[in-house]
Amino acid sequence: MMDFQGKTAVVTGGSRGIGRAVCTELAKGGANIVLCYAGNAAAAEETAEACRAYGVQVMPVQCDVADEAQVKEMMTRAVKEFGGIHILVNNAGITRDNLLMIMKEEDFDAVVRTNLKGTFVCMKAVSRQMIKQRFGRIVNISSVVGIRGNAGQVNYAATKAGVIGMTKSAARELAGRGITVNAVAPGFIETDMTKAMPEAAKEAAVSSVPLGRIGTPEDIAGAVAFLADENSGYITGQVLSVDGGMGM
Ligand code: NDP
Repeated sequence: MMDFQGKTAVVTGGSRGIGRAVCTELAKGGANIVLCYAGNAAAAEETAEACRAYGVQVMPVQCDVADEAQVKEMMTRAVKEFGGIHILVNNAGITRDNLLMIMKEEDFDAVVRTNLKGTFVCMKAVSRQMIKQRFGRIVNISSVVGIRGNAGQVNYAATKAGVIGMTKSAARELAGRGITVNAVAPGFIETDMTKAMPEAAKEAAVSSVPLGRIGTPEDIAGAVAFLADENSGYITGQVLSVDGGMGM
């Protein structure tokens, strides 16, 4: 188990799925958690309760990751109440799948806004505080789809590839200040996001996974915790695929 005692972690999209598992894993190691969610207060409270069971403090905040004013306010509250921000996990994400030919402009824009702009806004909002601390761990959630592409997801794939470019650029900018910036690229993971997929598509996805099973949110949380750990300070600008071998 990693040791996050005395650390504060901001996890976006912490109410459900991968974000919930990340919050719980970091709380297990002793981190206080700022749990950002879009609108599902009941799910956020469930995650918060699971984290509090480890004796840490949790601050659930309803906050749109792409709204700079809301994000700034959340980060300011986090520093005021918990004394700093040591870990940022940019996990909030959405899909609006369709074939290129019929994809609506608003579906392209919505996905870019949350997945790509949201990651930018949150990284920007913590950078000054992390520079002041001369310590920070930023982990951005990309996707195997950002590396390989996927039919029906030109919008989503563009954002997840963009997150990789942003991760490497921020890693170069912040490296001299004790801040690492890495990405985790999950494969096919069992969450609400993938629940809606037709059974046949799910079976096809699993059959392309060398390890032969769908991933769990906990599979991803372990990798995020590893990159967020103080001892991972010589790893930056990397993309860690956690996909059962799907993307190799
Ligand atoms: P879920 O759909 O289960 O959860 C999405 C989370 O993001 C929720 O907590 C939701 O909050 C939050 N959220 C959505 N929009 C915003 C916003 N504008 N501001 C703040 N929070 C927001 O997703 P997953 O757990 O499956 O995915 C998590 C991340 O992992 C995403 O970035 C996704 O792209 C990525 N990923 C997922 C894969 C998978 O197979 N599941 C594979 C590869 C990558 P609320 O509960 O309030 O709605």
